[in-house]
Amino acid sequence: MASVPAAYRPNPGSVLDPDRAFYDRLAEQTEGRELVERFVLPIRSGRAWEVPAGHLCRVLTQEGPQVGDFNVWNRHNPRERLWAARTRQLQRAHVSRYDRLWSTLPYLRPLLTVTNDTLESYGVDDDGGRVHDLLGSRCDPYVNRLLTGVDFDLHCHSNLVRAVAPYGLTEFDVHDVLNIFQCTGLNDEDRYFMKPSPAKPGDFFEFFAEQDLLCALSTCPGGDLSVPLWGPDARDPIDVCRPLAVEVHRPPAGLTGGWSPPPVAPYRGGHGLRLA
Ligand code: ZN
Repeated sequence: MASVPAAYRPNPGSVLDPDRAFYDRLAEQTEGRELVERFVLPIRSGRAWEVPAGHLCRVLTQEGPQVGDFNVWNRHNPRERLWAARTRQLQRAHVSRYDRLWSTLPYLRPLLTVTNDTLESYGVDDDGGRVHDLLGSRCDPYVNRLLTGVDFDLHCHSNLVRAVAPYGLTEFDVHDVLNIFQCTGLNDEDRYFMKPSPAKPGDFFEFFAEQDLLCALSTCPGGDLSVPLWGPDARDPIDVCRPLAVEVHRPPAGLTGGWSPPPVAPYRGGHGLRLA
């Protein structure tokens, strides 16, 4: 099929055109990194943590494939958070190395840049599936009730709600996610599909914090998504649920010299509004 050019195309050298050599150095020069935090997220749970600007963060599989639903905010302003739809347009519907996660209006700047992805070589499979999904969103108890008639409190939305509560945030702050390690696509009917995660033990997804971040992650109750959550073949997939690990690293001094957090997008107009 002929490829139609992307609609949102960056000017070289702009904030939409990352300095790949800078991110390559961060990814490759792991000697001298300082591990500042590490934790394991049990199955069907959520947790929030901070990543200071200029630090690196890894989400890792330990025991095998497992999907992680990820939210991210400016640590100092929760109204600035991941804008999944614009990120799909500016980057891709599945993100990997050098892609950035962009924040909501009126900020529109990178929250983070992906520096390393051990599943990058998965590319696109025969069904059109790709990994690290921005097409879909989190599973939630409301849609689950509509689809099954049953209440369940450990969906990703609920896991994220519990995760951010210690930071004073609520259900209204939880937003459309990046589904790390999740393989998805659109089928011939233009409908969203999910396939089993291809992640192996030790796979990881790593990013560089472009601002002080608050992050939250849910270990999806669907586990590796090899069992349908809904429909005639659905059953409780708890046997394909596995923990995920998270690490925060401070890169070696010198690697981030000259780097500074990106400014908000420079539009300063008034949207055409006029004061009487
Ligand atoms: Zn989920």
